[in-house]
Amino acid sequence: MANLIDGKQVSAAVKEQVRLETEKLVQESGKRPGLAVVIVGNNPASRVYVNNKKKACETVGFQSFEYALPEDTTQEELLELVQTLNSDSNVNGILVQLPVPPQIDDKAIINAISAEKDVDAFHPENVGRIMIGDYAFLPCTPAGVMELIDSTGVEISGKKCVVIGRSNIVGKPMAMLLLHRSGTVTICHSRTQDLASVTREADILVAAVGKANFVTADMVKDGAVVIDVGMNRLENGKLCGDVDFAQVEPKASWITPVPGGVGPMTIAMLMKNTLTAFKKQNQLA
Ligand code: NAP
Repeated sequence: MANLIDGKQVSAAVKEQVRLETEKLVQESGKRPGLAVVIVGNNPASRVYVNNKKKACETVGFQSFEYALPEDTTQEELLELVQTLNSDSNVNGILVQLPVPPQIDDKAIINAISAEKDVDAFHPENVGRIMIGDYAFLPCTPAGVMELIDSTGVEISGKKCVVIGRSNIVGKPMAMLLLHRSGTVTICHSRTQDLASVTREADILVAAVGKANFVTADMVKDGAVVIDVGMNRLENGKLCGDVDFAQVEPKASWITPVPGGVGPMTIAMLMKNTLTAFKKQNQLA
């Protein structure tokens, strides 16, 4: 039977660290970290994410600035807001909640956010920095996964790590972070042949596919660490991961549940990135 990796507990510890450091820095500098979150349109899932981010800001002692723009906002209007936030010294981090409506090119928006305030780490400059291992921010979800793996005490160096998924947001940076820690990394995707034979080799298996219960017991090595990034909404409204938890759990040594695994880590790492941005912008230690 696997040990459960408790994302709620690990994320609470990360947020508590951020809260304590924030309190100290506010006392020392008289300034307070600020995160601006921009949401365009009425996507209900995005609304939930934005509310959760606002709550997390309150928990750690940040100012949060919310900009809720109508569905028919033009690209020029959104770019103008991003420029205003770029030059506002009370705003240390800027996050534009994706997806944006189709009349807006999300790449143009990501490129317009100042790299120093890009706490999602989606800007090409920050992506490049991750490649060469010289970064200030890590993308929140893969960084959260690293915290979860570290919480198990399992050494990554030298281990066979398999990532299923190659998206810019999760799969690719995830593989890079595991590589930086000296894992031997394989990235799988929809064209991978005989996927199960590859995943069965993994000491550490990260699933970021977006398909409910995709990873079954026959795809997992005995004793593997299994991290489930997937967040799939079933017809009955329940949240479900990419890993068939009931099947895989008896084989794994460590496993993340869904919900309560990777999900809570993403926001905790966003808080950590915003604090890092605040410190860099104000030349604080
Ligand atoms: P995505 O952009 O749709 O990427 C999915 C990846 O899975 C693609 O690389 C795709 O391969 C691969 N794939 C699809 N079918 C496959 C198959 N049959 N065999 C092998 N690989 C296959 O998704 P994403 O943005 O990376 O997100 C992945 C999951 O993580 C989603 O469920 C998402 O909701 C969740 N997520 C969770 C968090 C969190 O905070 N917990 C954050 C972000 C994302 P191709 O490239 O060949 O198409």
